[in-house]
Amino acid sequence: MTTQPTAMELLSQLAAAPGVGDLLPGATIPPAYHGDWMTQAPAGTALALARPRDTAEVSATLAACHRLRVPVVPQGGRTGLAGGATPVSGCVLLSLERMNRIEAVDAAGSTITVQAGATLQSVQEAARDAGLFFPLDLGARGSCHVGGNLSTNAGGNRVLRYGMARDLVLGLEAVTADGTVLSHLNTVLKDNTGFDMKQLFVGTEGTMGVIARAVLRLHPQPRSTQTALCALPDYASVLRLLRLVREGIGPTLSAFELMWPDFYGLVTTRVAGLEPPLAHGAGAYVLVESLGVEPDEDAARFERVLAMAMENGVVGDAVIAQSGGETAKLWKVRDASGELRSIFWPHVGFDVGIPTRSLGEFIEELTARLQQRWPQVRTVFFGHVGDSNVHIGVKVGDGEQPEAEIDDTVYRTVGDWRGSISAEHGIGLLKRAHLHHSRSPQELALLRTLKTALDPHGILNPGKVVPA
Ligand code: FAD
Repeated sequence: MTTQPTAMELLSQLAAAPGVGDLLPGATIPPAYHGDWMTQAPAGTALALARPRDTAEVSATLAACHRLRVPVVPQGGRTGLAGGATPVSGCVLLSLERMNRIEAVDAAGSTITVQAGATLQSVQEAARDAGLFFPLDLGARGSCHVGGNLSTNAGGNRVLRYGMARDLVLGLEAVTADGTVLSHLNTVLKDNTGFDMKQLFVGTEGTMGVIARAVLRLHPQPRSTQTALCALPDYASVLRLLRLVREGIGPTLSAFELMWPDFYGLVTTRVAGLEPPLAHGAGAYVLVESLGVEPDEDAARFERVLAMAMENGVVGDAVIAQSGGETAKLWKVRDASGELRSIFWPHVGFDVGIPTRSLGEFIEELTARLQQRWPQVRTVFFGHVGDSNVHIGVKVGDGEQPEAEIDDTVYRTVGDWRGSISAEHGIGLLKRAHLHHSRSPQELALLRTLKTALDPHGILNPGKVVPA
């Protein structure tokens, strides 16, 4: 008869394994590591915290955990919104925080090579210091890691122009569950050497391997920014404005962010110091931004397009930022989504993808379904509408939310619209049970096959993403 090793025995065997750096035992792990931004995701008690300094230590830690069948939960900056970095019972938390070096910037090739624990902001700054631009940007920039951005395939504010994290990576060094290092730090734009292995690790939230280093794509630094907030009568006008700006300012269009009146009204009345730049009462508010390299021409073109939109009645009113300070003020309205925890809490949040053409109808239908079930329901809708991505907050009263029922109503509606249950935040722990609304049984079967091939003992981030 074999007996299971105790936690203490496992811990000492792990600590004694060659190449594993120092481990912090479970009871001494600081509370910050006990979960990600989604604190309501149920957390297990971790066995230990590992903070490797290089790829070799990541590999040694994974090899030891693989041999001892100890689950491993990779952690970046723990700003994820799907519970992906939440500890599972008896796991080793593998934090990449010590692997935060910017290794090289290649200005001629427009690439930057970094360790996975570098914060997004440090990568943006290193690119800027070299006269270049790393366009991925999101509110958590100061805390989130490049490894976390890639593992969640983060989107953010400039997807319309530069794509998601997936589109900004050229090469990866990743470590699979048994400690095998797959190093393909490719720096060339065109690399058609067969199967693009890095995609196994992008967007799979630490279930297929641990990203240790990455080569990222840089872009020219923009020299002009035009930003405007527009008030529109309805969603049909939003679609017309999107078409007008796409045709009028072409590839410089970098953001097209929609705020429904419920969101705009809430944040501009409840967030301290936030004045409404445009009057309440419109059917929709859109923040448009263009990033260009010809300041005079860019500004004239931008103003021409908006003037045309106003003449056509597509836009009812608009304000164009005249300075960096005014630009920041307009973005503050959209970024006030970060304040919803204090002004619209508790609520159940969603991040869904719906084809842009039918997003308006989707919102109407979803609102009707929610109101039918909970007449007192309150909602907020806002998002990256140019990327077919809307964020939703649903609040039923001030007490505990009927989360399972709200999830069911929203995800069923998303399924009926053939949308995506996660446009950018990922599946993690919180959306795993709903993945079937967006993925077919055949796709889920392939996902399980790939997972088993890469991680036969299922140690990597168990219980996340891949449905049971
Ligand atoms: P963590 O939260 O630590 O981890 C996220 C997932 O990745 C987990 O499953 C974890 O196991 C895995 N992981 C982390 N590092 C690695 C690694 N090196 N190798 C393998 N797996 C790893 N997201 C958007 O897409 N767009 C937004 O606009 C946006 N805005 C945000 C604004 C705020 C204020 C906050 C708090 C979050 C926002 N997010 C947004 C969520 C977004 O997913 C994260 O901020 C970020 O991409 C996660 O990075 P992280 O380092 O914090 O990862």
